[in-house]
Order: sequence, then structure tokens, then C-alpha cells
Amino acid sequence: MSGFRADVLTLFPDMFPGALGLSLAGEALKQGTWSLHAHDIRDHGLGKHRAVDDTPAGGGAGMVIRADVLAASLDSVVDAQDRRPRLLMSPRGKPLTQEMVRHFAAGEGVVIICGRFEGVDERVIEGRNLQEVSIGDYILSGGEPAALVLLDAIVRLLPGVMGKTESGEDESFENGLLEYPHYTRPREWEGQAIPDILLSGDHKKIAEWRRAESGKLTKERRPDLVKK
Ligand code: SAH
Repeated sequence: MSGFRADVLTLFPDMFPGALGLSLAGEALKQGTWSLHAHDIRDHGLGKHRAVDDTPAGGGAGMVIRADVLAASLDSVVDAQDRRPRLLMSPRGKPLTQEMVRHFAAGEGVVIICGRFEGVDERVIEGRNLQEVSIGDYILSGGEPAALVLLDAIVRLLPGVMGKTESGEDESFENGLLEYPHYTRPREWEGQAIPDILLSGDHKKIAEWRRAESGKLTKERRPDLVKK
């Protein structure tokens, strides 16, 4: 087997590769660094209308994706030998971090399930060993944009995708800090100059300045990261 393999289960397969068909991720997709296979959960829907959802037990608003339908879709994609993590995009999940992204990128691939409506029948989560992953404390209308976010973050870490490996290691969160500020030409813009130190050519001083700015920004904006 070669390359990182992503299988996505969704009611909207046309949303893939979407934004991931362009730019860095799209180039890597063409090169075969990774592959993306979107599967329509509705292929396993029931009856003439290929129903995938039903009303919530106990009443209430909305619809719930059926356990039997979702399991049939998943079972058609993975077998017992497949060791890839099975991720269910969900606002109740473990909040996605760069550390988790790095872990997924180091593996052979991922299987991602995109919820819709009120979500999925609880029994399939345990029954198929799904790991719930959230991309933040807000509610999307479906798991697809969350899956695109997760895959974007993973793919840029795959070997050969980013031009220079250093440009990944310096990034916000990679060292527990937010990144230092960037500047480029022109040297002066609307009366604001680039900090002198960055033009000094003194690489040691520049590194020190950047580390200090990183620390300052992180303390101001993300005291929660400093605690860690
Ligand atoms: N009723 C659910 C929300 C359902 S939103 C609740 O209150 O927890 C519909 C689908 O969108 C979810 O099944 C999930 O797949 C996806 N989704 C919504 N917000 C998300 C988030 N923050 N992170 C990841 N997936 C999300």
C-alpha cells in the first residue's frame, strides 16, 4: 500500500474533494501522496426512498441517522484488518488539536463519518468503535466542513506536501506557542516600518526576538496554552 488513504462517509459525496482538490492538498492528491474516497451513506438506505434517518426515540425535533444504515455503509468500506482510526465528526467529540493531527498524519489513513440532522444513533458509536472528534465549540449543519478541516490539517503534514519542512515546525501550536509576527516588503508601509532587528542580519538576535514575541502573544491571547 502506498500513500495516506482517507475514506469519507457522507450524505453529500459531492462536497469532496471540494477545497481539497486545489492548492497544496489538491496537488498532493494528483501526485498520489494521499487518496480520498467519498462514499454515499444513502447507497445503504432502506426502501424505495433509500431512507437513512428516522425520528428520535423519546420524541423531539429533527431526525437521527440510523445505526443499521450507517453500520452497513461503514462495513462496506472497512474490514477487520483495517487499523485506521474511525472518526465521527461531532461537536461532542474530543476537540481537535495539532497533536491529534500529527498523530493521524503519522498513520496509514483515516475513516471519517460525517453526521447530519441531529446526529447518529448512539449505538453505532460503541458498536463500531467510533472516535468522536470536534473542530470547535459551535454547531455546523453537517460533518462535511469539519472533515475538510481535519483532512486539510493532516494532508499538509504528509511527507513531501509542504515545500520546506521547517515551515511546518515553526507554526503556531507546534511548540505550544502562537507564532511570532511576520513582515515582508515594502520596508515601510503607511508610516509603519519593519522592526529593525529583522533587517539586522543577526540570526541569533532574530531568533531571540521571535521567541520573545511568540511568548508575549501567547500570554496575551491564549493564557490557557501558557499554563500547559
Ligand atoms: N444535535 C447535535 C448537533 C448536530 S449538527 C448536538 O447538539 O450535539 C449535525 C452534524 O454536524 C453532526 O452530527 C456532526 O457530524 C457535524 N458537526 C456539527 N458541529 C460540529 C463540530 N463542531 N465539530 C465536528 N462536527 C460537527
